[in-house]
Amino acid sequence: MLPYFGEVYGNPATIYSAGAEARDAVDNAREYIADAVGADPDEIFFTSGGTEAGNWAIKGIASAAPDSRRHLLTTAIEHHAVLDPCKSLQRAGFDVEFIPVDSRGIVEPGWIAKRIRRETCLVSVMYANNEVGAIEPIEEIGTICREREAPFHTDAVQALGKLEIDVDRMGASLMSLSAHKLYGPKGVGALYVRRGTRIASLLEGGEQEKGRRAGTLNVPAIVGFHSAIKLAGLFGAAENERLTVLRDRLIEGIESGIPDAILMGPGEARLSNNVHFCFDGLEGESLLLALDQAGIYASAGSACTTGSVEPSHVLLAMRVPVQRARGALRLTLGASTTAEAVEYTIEKLREIVCNLRSLAR
Ligand code: PLP
Repeated sequence: MLPYFGEVYGNPATIYSAGAEARDAVDNAREYIADAVGADPDEIFFTSGGTEAGNWAIKGIASAAPDSRRHLLTTAIEHHAVLDPCKSLQRAGFDVEFIPVDSRGIVEPGWIAKRIRRETCLVSVMYANNEVGAIEPIEEIGTICREREAPFHTDAVQALGKLEIDVDRMGASLMSLSAHKLYGPKGVGALYVRRGTRIASLLEGGEQEKGRRAGTLNVPAIVGFHSAIKLAGLFGAAENERLTVLRDRLIEGIESGIPDAILMGPGEARLSNNVHFCFDGLEGESLLLALDQAGIYASAGSACTTGSVEPSHVLLAMRVPVQRARGALRLTLGASTTAEAVEYTIEKLREIVCNLRSLAR
């Protein structure tokens, strides 16, 4: 990324030659990212991240839809980047339905088939859930949407680099991506828009991104996104296997060492980096503080809403009782997680839970 902050400073949108090198870098990134997800380069639009991509998909499709199609289907476990624009459309008079999930956090495709109708302008279902790691049956849902001719958006922010992505096989008309979940820079992502999809712009202004997403491109970040996706392609499979072994050991260590620790999310269809437990009788926040003091960085649910004491909407949608949902702890594994770190975490967590429970008595 560094040269693009300095010597290659040209604006990729300019005609003069100083912009050419930056433009080449953006074009190369677009081609690579498109190829990685089975799309064409002209179907990839760079954004400021997953939040903008999700907002654009939801609001852009809704505002381009004819008045006869004002029904949207989504799930109750989406990230706020999808959930909140759906709620704001609901307030604006759209008919928005939030499909329930089972106790593991998995959407039943039959529900989508049942609820989809001629007026449906968009179905939006995430590929993998950021809190409990549930991997959704995206291909089945995509097939239903294709058969019923409803545009289908998937938030693949958590899936990129971990799960196979092919927009054709998934039947996706739109897909949100973000670079920082695969060690790319923060503040850059993309929206895949299948050719022929009617979508209004979210950001208006300049003619960047073929006039569909205004704003000068963040060239260094796009270059970083390109590198991150390349590295994920080279090392992703081996890294996923390594993480799966560590994840399973962490789950097993917690389940066998700590009473009343309840695993949330699916046993099988689960992201390789995700561990999520609820500890009955405890508050997630106090667990986090004690873990932080032991050098373990964890989350009480969704990191983006940390600071709020509300129980997670994902756990509530999985019908976890409110009291139990308050004792939620998400441990995310990553490139720097070692087997020793996992053993240390199991040990420390056991001590911390034991101490907190004895204080609460
Ligand atoms: N969607 C999901 C599933 C996420 O996990 C996140 C980030 O945590 C986002 C969307 C938002 O992406 P960004 O942080 O790039 O705005």
